[in-house]
Amino acid sequence: MLFPTTIAGSLPKPEWLAEPNKLWAPWKSQGDELARAKRDATLLAVKLQEDAGIDIVTEGEQARQHFVHGFLEKVEGIDFAHKVEMGIRNDRYKAMVPQVVAPLKLKGRVHADEARVTRAHTTRKVKFTMPGPMTIIDTIADQYYGDRVKMAFAFAELLNEEARALQADGVDLIQFDEPAFNVYMNEVNEWGIKALERAAEGLTCATAVHICYGYGIKANTDWKETLGSEWRQYEEFFPSIAKSTIGQVAIECRNSKVPLEILGLLKGKKIQAGVIDVANDQVETAEDVVAVIEAVSKVVPKSDIIPTTNCGMAPMRRDIAEAKLMALGAGAKLARQRLG
Ligand code: ZN
Repeated sequence: MLFPTTIAGSLPKPEWLAEPNKLWAPWKSQGDELARAKRDATLLAVKLQEDAGIDIVTEGEQARQHFVHGFLEKVEGIDFAHKVEMGIRNDRYKAMVPQVVAPLKLKGRVHADEARVTRAHTTRKVKFTMPGPMTIIDTIADQYYGDRVKMAFAFAELLNEEARALQADGVDLIQFDEPAFNVYMNEVNEWGIKALERAAEGLTCATAVHICYGYGIKANTDWKETLGSEWRQYEEFFPSIAKSTIGQVAIECRNSKVPLEILGLLKGKKIQAGVIDVANDQVETAEDVVAVIEAVSKVVPKSDIIPTTNCGMAPMRRDIAEAKLMALGAGAKLARQRLG
């Protein structure tokens, strides 16, 4: 089937699970009650995607507070009690971040519960997202390794351990999120892609990297204003990604200033093309979605296009996110009729 759909990863959480409309939202319950609430929210997220006609579903990232720290919470060697302020994404914004203080090790499984619940309740393909090594080390302070690259590879090993376990749980596609890639272009070529390949080593399921210009929060939209009329940052490292072992690249295409012709640098890769904008609340029509798919298909073979959302929808209003999901499913269906 042409144009199988997926989403970047996250959906907004119900208000009984966490405070709505924000990143890093505090949980509304604790202990076993929280575990049950996360499970229920995961089932809802899967159902909403199925009803919208999404082919490769996620758990909506309902069980993690933040896409990076959800992973870090299960890692030994990190001091969460003494957070320090750090400028992240090359100082685009300040955040209070935990510190690495000892050798890194997984305390156990990170995402087993939500991966297994999702697998047990859908017959569709399941995608699972994790932060990439470069993005992780850009979101945590180092008091132990004394070397960014060394620390990134230490995290890559842990990611690999969890990725292999997720594959064994029945996950069909593992995606690493690397919003740090378009901030540190030279480092991406030097070691970022190698660290990603280390994280994906030995996987036989599909693999992807999501690179993006961030959620629709103010610090990001302000930064985007400074990038000029065409965003060509990807040109510097797409040739390296094309040569890598990673199978798919997820990239924002709707309302994006990324010139689509640079997708031509990713020959041989499947392209998860963002056809739904997450930085504004205006709900796309099916026609809008078709228009983006058609534009992408001028550069990427149709059989390699996987329509998706530009980025995660975690900070959005639920009703808007749901309407956008429906538009994604309806738009891909229409595109199959028109362009198939
Ligand atoms: Zn993103």
